[in-house]
Amino acid sequence: MIVVLVLLASYWYIVLPIVLVALAGVKLPRLIRDIRKKRYFASEDFLERKAAINSVVDEHNEIAEYTSEIRSRGTFQLGLAATGAHAHLASFDNTSNHNYRRDRNVANYQAQNVHNCSLQVVRNASSDPLKYLMKYFNIKAVEANLSDVEHLGEEVARLEDAVDNLRQRETSITASFNPPAFILKHYADEFMEHVGIELSPISVPYPEYAFEYVSAGGNSSQRTTVTLNTETIDALVETLSQKIRFSQSAAGQRALMTAKLRQFIKTRDRHTCRYCSVSLAAEPHLLLEVDHVVPVSKGGMSTPENLQALCWRCNRTKSNKVAPV
Ligand SMILES: [Zn+2]
Repeated sequence: MIVVLVLLASYWYIVLPIVLVALAGVKLPRLIRDIRKKRYFASEDFLERKAAINSVVDEHNEIAEYTSEIRSRGTFQLGLAATGAHAHLASFDNTSNHNYRRDRNVANYQAQNVHNCSLQVVRNASSDPLKYLMKYFNIKAVEANLSDVEHLGEEVARLEDAVDNLRQRETSITASFNPPAFILKHYADEFMEHVGIELSPISVPYPEYAFEYVSAGGNSSQRTTVTLNTETIDALVETLSQKIRFSQSAAGQRALMTAKLRQFIKTRDRHTCRYCSVSLAAEPHLLLEVDHVVPVSKGGMSTPENLQALCWRCNRTKSNKVAPV
């Protein structure tokens, strides 16, 4: 030990540079990158581009605000499991002596989007999800439920479109700066902040319904989950309407509000807002929505004659006027 120390001391002029270089190897690249980053954000080029793109960034932030409005106003929920309807009136405790060993799988009897059932039902639900969804979550084939599902489909699609629109705008704004690769790799969020983009990590809250089996001892559990995304909602709309048509209802007299119909309306209106005439051709990132001329709440039908393409601004103004205060 002493020998090593003596050797190190006598050869300090060799050892010291090695230690310094080793330290520098770790810290220096980071330090240099940090300096380069600061210089980039303070550069004339960056600031000029930022000034030029000001209004584009403002519009992005407005749509971000609008997107959170859609999310907080919308009802992303349908039928509920009858099993949980009065669950809040009771309290549930597992008083088993073995509870401490068997807490791996505990059934949640409070959640109304979870149906606690037998293993057989869990398995059947995975092969015939719509049938079981309707049966156990009380979505009967009646006109009122059909409209609710169609409305849910509209809300989900509207939020999907808005979120998608934001992402496209962010990509396009970033591309217009053409920042050095190291900025995007190490300082992506900081870049957005410097540009002035308000990032809102909004996701679409797809309603989820689960069929769950938990064994009495809690040792095993199985679950089938049905996620109501656009595809599932459209299939549910079709199924409900077919059942209603069987019983000679009025549902067959109108078009179904599905992704296909929304696309049809946008194409028919040439991707142009019926109020202010702004078009996708003029504004590639235009957020266009499908609106009921006479709102559903006032008896408006989902017929092509009662549907129109509106830009998000006009639709926002219109729904603020129509919405009850
Ligand atoms: Zn418009």
